[in-house]
Amino acid sequence: MAVKKIYQLGSDILRKKSVGVKKFDDQLVKTVNDLRDTLKDFQKRFKIGRAIAAPQIGVHQKIVYFNKDHEILMVNPEIVEKSSETFQVWDSCFSFKVSFFVKIERAKRIKVKYQDIKGNQYIKIFEDDLSELFQHEIDHLYGILATDRLKSKKDIIMREVWEERYNK
Ligand SMILES: [Zn+2]
Repeated sequence: MAVKKIYQLGSDILRKKSVGVKKFDDQLVKTVNDLRDTLKDFQKRFKIGRAIAAPQIGVHQKIVYFNKDHEILMVNPEIVEKSSETFQVWDSCFSFKVSFFVKIERAKRIKVKYQDIKGNQYIKIFEDDLSELFQHEIDHLYGILATDRLKSKKDIIMREVWEERYNK
């Protein structure tokens, strides 16, 4: 069990670009276990959240980990296609402690090429909520945060207001 510190908005750690995973070894297994433990701990404490990217715990490797009902691990994810159709979402982040939300635009569908923990290749299409989620997580691998994608300065609201409006 290793719950790691999640770096917060303003930290330079979140701005550094990640490198591709080359070795599918014990170190990768350890990082994935840390991501799993850290995500579960956050979900328990904050009652929200679906996924985490390795740079958020200070590991600058291209790894994204999702866990909500089921688990999806993406090693070296790459968006190979994006729909021109977009939609607006209220997005937040563990690195904001999910204390506020920003309204941003994301592609409705994405096609992602990625590997699993053993290096096997996959290509999958994700739509709607999973599409915007994985765009968010893959952004982390390039040092991009949800706040960078704000179009209007007014499209930022506290979690409390978001819950009143959308999560009744
Ligand atoms: Zn995030």
